[in-house]
Amino acid sequence: MSECPICRNEFDTSRAFYRDGELICMECRQIELEQDVDPTLDLPFGGLDHTKREVIAFVGENHEYYLRKWDNIDARASTAMGWNFSACLFSTCWLGYRKMYPHLLAFFSLYYFLMLCGALFAIPYTGLVLSLTSIVVMGCFGNSMYYRHMKQKLKDHSLKNQGSMDLKDLKAMGGGSTAGLALAIGLNTLVPYIFVTVLRFIISIG
Ligand SMILES: [Zn+2]
Repeated sequence: MSECPICRNEFDTSRAFYRDGELICMECRQIELEQDVDPTLDLPFGGLDHTKREVIAFVGENHEYYLRKWDNIDARASTAMGWNFSACLFSTCWLGYRKMYPHLLAFFSLYYFLMLCGALFAIPYTGLVLSLTSIVVMGCFGNSMYYRHMKQKLKDHSLKNQGSMDLKDLKAMGGGSTAGLALAIGLNTLVPYIFVTVLRFIISIG
């Protein structure tokens, strides 16, 4: 392992690139290659106060997809950011993987609150209607949700560090998280169990 002189991340030297007599990590090399063909990398991205390079550092994998969807975002409505298949198919797992924990919590709270209402007032097909609704909502608004999340995280980071942005910190704050994914899977297992237990209790006292 060695420390990259650009992003200061530890990297595997077998996956490195020699440049001007020093080793840099493949991710920084990738960014340099993109810069060769993309001179806008250090210009503000969209209407943001942050550069495209900073947004890429935050988003990490699949950044090509998200940057394409978010381009000229102010000129579009939230729903015009296209359909996000990952968000639609994996909803809570996608939220966890993308470290959108407040969204994850809000999703579970709202979903099971409505499930509880459905059960208490004997509304038919509550589960089915909620599942279908969440698929559509996540697919439609996944990209704009993630955009707002990214914007907020970058803004918070900038305020905390008096405007200086550390690419290493941005990478750590964003990207994909296996732990976040595991958390979402755990909640998907645990929350329905708690829900059924609570429901049984309510029925038994009612
Ligand atoms: Zn690097």
